[in-house]
Amino acid sequence: VNAHPNPAVIARYAGRDNDLDEVTVWSVEVHLDDCADCRALVAAGTPDDSRDLLARIATGLDQEIDAGPAPAPRRWLSAVRHRWMVWHLAPWLIMTVAVVACAVVLQTLAPSLPSLVTLIAPVAPLPAVAVAWSRRYDPAWELIAGTPAAGLAMLLRRTAGVLAVVIPALALASTRTGVSLALTLLPCLAFTAATIALGAVIGARHAVLGLGAAWALVFVLPAVVTAELPVMLRSGSSPAWALVVLALAAVVVTRADSFRTSFGKD
Ligand SMILES: [Zn+2]
Repeated sequence: VNAHPNPAVIARYAGRDNDLDEVTVWSVEVHLDDCADCRALVAAGTPDDSRDLLARIATGLDQEIDAGPAPAPRRWLSAVRHRWMVWHLAPWLIMTVAVVACAVVLQTLAPSLPSLVTLIAPVAPLPAVAVAWSRRYDPAWELIAGTPAAGLAMLLRRTAGVLAVVIPALALASTRTGVSLALTLLPCLAFTAATIALGAVIGARHAVLGLGAAWALVFVLPAVVTAELPVMLRSGSSPAWALVVLALAAVVVTRADSFRTSFGKD
């Protein structure tokens, strides 16, 4: 703490006709921030009518606060709504469920085709994951990026929200069409983890576009043309997918720090 200002200076600072120059006022205020003794001196040197005025204002404020509406209680449901739901995701999730339902219908109508449910499962959650993590679609992203809640935890919470809708839809679709549940869900998780890992580097939107396009060109198109599922989607390949999921999850965890800055990267 700097040396205390001269008591005469403090008395002039507290007095009605504050005739100190600006630099002195500034240095007194900086000192008052740290020094309780001098704050007591200022309080003692404040004229009585000023103190009365302050007391009246404090009483008035207390009365207004007592008379005003009580603060809204934080309910469990509203905490869930504020922390876990992102309303701008709803249309994307509805679209995803509709696409999965269409795949089920098509597969029922044309059983000779390779399983459409298996083919779209890996990329089904990706549009919603990209939207959950992109500043383009989140009007509050600047606010969120500046909070301590930003980063991997928030991203995982939003991704979990997406998967909570997409995984039951895929599970239902796989039991309806009789395709392997593991080969529907594990690739879905693997692509979600890959999106997060890649998204930290190039942005979620680019990661989704890249992974989606690669999947469509390298696997979906040949499968539709040859009417056969690619090797990695046939039975027996689920342990490999499980390993891929674990490896990608490890990558995401080790890069946790980079997600604070990558939120909203486009
Ligand atoms: Zn002091």
